[in-house]
Amino acid sequence: MVRTRFAPSPTGYLHIGGARTALFAWAFARKHGGSFILRIEDTDLERSTQESVQAILDSMAWLGLDYDEGPFYQTQRMARYREVIQKLLDEGKAYHCYCSKEELDAMRETQRACGLKPRYDGRCRHRTAPVPGVNPVVRFKNPLDGEVIIDDLVKGRVVVSNAELDDLIIARADGTPTYNFCVVVDDWDMAMTHVIRGDDHLNNTPRQINILKALGAPIPQYAHVPMILGHDGERLSKRHGAVSVTQYRDEGYLPEALLNYLARLSWAHGDDEIFTMDQFIEWFDLKDISKSPAKFDPEKLTWVNAQYIKATDSARLVQLARPFMAADCCDPSHGPDPVKVLDLLKARVNTLQELADAAVYFYRQLEPHAELRARYLTAEIRPVLEELACKLEAIEWNRDAINRLLKDAVAAHKLKLPQLAMPLRVMITGETQTPSIDAVMELVGREESLRRIRDHLG
Ligand code: GLU
Repeated sequence: MVRTRFAPSPTGYLHIGGARTALFAWAFARKHGGSFILRIEDTDLERSTQESVQAILDSMAWLGLDYDEGPFYQTQRMARYREVIQKLLDEGKAYHCYCSKEELDAMRETQRACGLKPRYDGRCRHRTAPVPGVNPVVRFKNPLDGEVIIDDLVKGRVVVSNAELDDLIIARADGTPTYNFCVVVDDWDMAMTHVIRGDDHLNNTPRQINILKALGAPIPQYAHVPMILGHDGERLSKRHGAVSVTQYRDEGYLPEALLNYLARLSWAHGDDEIFTMDQFIEWFDLKDISKSPAKFDPEKLTWVNAQYIKATDSARLVQLARPFMAADCCDPSHGPDPVKVLDLLKARVNTLQELADAAVYFYRQLEPHAELRARYLTAEIRPVLEELACKLEAIEWNRDAINRLLKDAVAAHKLKLPQLAMPLRVMITGETQTPSIDAVMELVGREESLRRIRDHLG
């Protein structure tokens, strides 16, 4: 049975790159009817925060990347790591190293002077007695010869000679286990069949495999996924603008749109741009992940989001947009039916925030800029608007009847439609960019439309 994991370090928000890795690991497990595990790698006590853990959990929940086991926390597994370190020591597969910093520096200096790559030379492997007063670190006895072969499911075959790897520190002088060691024990205990992670970890893999072998643990298959880069080809970071999942949530992106966009970073299914997660799971295959990094394109993400908003049922959009509307001091329970309002607006916006902003004037009057009033509410048009207001009292209240009345007024006064529609729009909505004014007025309602018109005509 397939078992995959997402193993973020809680040293910041969940960023786009992490979410994409999580998506691939999740989709692979789902496709194969396997299990997806969440493991919080929080051993770096200085940089890990509870806030980051919460941001990761919130982001996963919001994205709908559900996990079958976890979250596991490495800080809660310390006893287990110590036990495995002891086992390796007992079996002679690890040893205490008493080398001081000065000794190590001198060793490296000599190696450099001889034109060698600095690496620990294993001098404590054969030490028989402890050094008094020194708390030793524990090092793993890496095989001295042979090679490690990784048949990476994305990168292909990667071969690393053991001569290039030195004896990794697996426990610090204070007894705490090191990062690479915890990952190994976890992947073993959690019975990972596939380790799907960023290719910045490819360097760690040969060492991890050697430790797994020493433990007699099965070796999972590895899939190292390429990085996501910014528009300038640099690794995606805060410099490139919004890169955290929660920020996209807060700006009014839909989780399914973000996932859809992320799915296409270093993976594609022909030219298909918009697809559901069910389709993605069906189509997804690790062998189709590209070896090269993808570029993050915020404009494309915004476009995908707009497609999703347009296609989302308006009743659901009302639920999603409600918090954004509340932040705009707009209460959709008083006024026109918000489902109809969002129906009218949803094809015109990119985000829920924009949708909420566009809906405000349906629920409260917005004052136009003085400059707009001056431009559109001219002395010539005022009498026409006054006459129109009287006629609006009497017609049947629907879009077609309003439209007919406007056209009649335009013909009678030898005007062009915008000469009448724009002043109406400015008075009723406070803006110049809105859907067709007849449709807007139908929803704003007769009483409120007339109130706003008369308010402006004074
Ligand atoms: N904790 C690592 C990270 O956040 C991931 C390690 C792994 O997947 O093996 O980059």
